[in-house]
Amino acid sequence: MSTKSDACAQPGLMHPTDAINALLDQVSVIEQSEMVSLNEAVGRILSEDLASCIDLPPFDNSSMDGYAFKFDELTGETATTLTLVGTSFAGHPYKGKIPANSCIRIMTGAPVPAGYDTVQMQEKTSADGDKITIEHPNAKGNSIRYCGEELTAGTNVLKSGTQIRAAEMGVLATIGISQIRVKARLKVAFFSTGDELRPVGSELAPGQIYDSNRYSIKGLLTQANVEWIDLGVIEDDKEAIRGAFREAAKKADMVLTSGGVSVGDADYTKQILSEEGEITFWRLAIKPGKPFAFGKLGKAVFCGLPGNPVSSMVTFYKLVWPIVNKMQGLTVKEPLIVKATLTSAIRKQPGRAEYQRGILSRDDNGELVVSTTGGQGSGMLTSMSLANCFINLEQEQGDVASGAQVNVEPFNSVLC
Ligand code: AMP
Ligand code: MG
Repeated sequence: MSTKSDACAQPGLMHPTDAINALLDQVSVIEQSEMVSLNEAVGRILSEDLASCIDLPPFDNSSMDGYAFKFDELTGETATTLTLVGTSFAGHPYKGKIPANSCIRIMTGAPVPAGYDTVQMQEKTSADGDKITIEHPNAKGNSIRYCGEELTAGTNVLKSGTQIRAAEMGVLATIGISQIRVKARLKVAFFSTGDELRPVGSELAPGQIYDSNRYSIKGLLTQANVEWIDLGVIEDDKEAIRGAFREAAKKADMVLTSGGVSVGDADYTKQILSEEGEITFWRLAIKPGKPFAFGKLGKAVFCGLPGNPVSSMVTFYKLVWPIVNKMQGLTVKEPLIVKATLTSAIRKQPGRAEYQRGILSRDDNGELVVSTTGGQGSGMLTSMSLANCFINLEQEQGDVASGAQVNVEPFNSVLC
């Protein structure tokens, strides 16, 4: 971590893995938590272990539509005829007597009365009035889901740090939980810098372009389940930039910007950052996305993404997203890498690790194949839209021939 005095130091080209590890060492999990209702829980992160107050299932019940009976009363060779005495519906248990050699009709999810111990599916029975002939099942307890067989009351169900997805929503409802304690949402304030940038909905004068990064970043932050604060486009003006940094640092746990962090930049971003915080400007051995800035602005963590649109998305994904995950209390996982056969040659200069945008699919034999999306310029944002994966090429790798096996990183939930 640099200090103000060496804030503009350029530590040389750093491998992305080293950069991720160094960045993660410098951030910690936010401590605040809050109660939310289950209805608002999707995407949130549990901040305490959660135990069940009930057994699951809460009572013995049938896994089939069929008949319930006592296994020991089956007497014939392969089938036995019993007398029907009632029905157990889901939500309406059978409450009658259980005479000898009797059975009840039972529906899936209906309670199995104490006294019966086995269920046979309807397809293996036949009815003649109240006489039901039942094909013998293999064992006592057939087609019964026992009370507590999934878990018993008091057992931990979800660990602190678990992100609530669709399955966890269902699991929580299954055990009757209506409120949970979750990590406070990480607040991220972001803005774009650059005199050439215009917001969408306005006319472009010569030399101007639309500010796309703010929208791709907004998409990424939304997918990452953080609370974002959009501070717009800030022109290349010293005091405007200073004001934006101060406002952002007051409002957020993380300040994120795009543009103005490259070597030789003519704008003021770097100067103001050095004056306002403790920021290091990194040169990463990755393509796209060489320049990146990181540090502290007041209490907030600062990440400065490069301005080129693909570079800003890739550096967000590779560097900022792990930081966001750690700060939110999630475990930072290694990306899933698969091998695939390259279907067209790739030109590459050794020197930087490259994340080429690729399309992963299966060929007619079911084997994984990958091709690039075409032009790989760091300003060609359509390459991100066409892609469903990165083709990861090592730092020292040169050109790659068609037919070679390459490492492919399928896009995960933040990019999909
Ligand atoms: P910079 O990192 O500010 O030197 O910008 C590098 C390149 O990215 C330049 O071509 C900028 O015009 C472009 N750029 C910077 N910010 C944005 C943005 N928010 N949206 C689209 N392009 C941008
Ligand atoms: Mg700029």
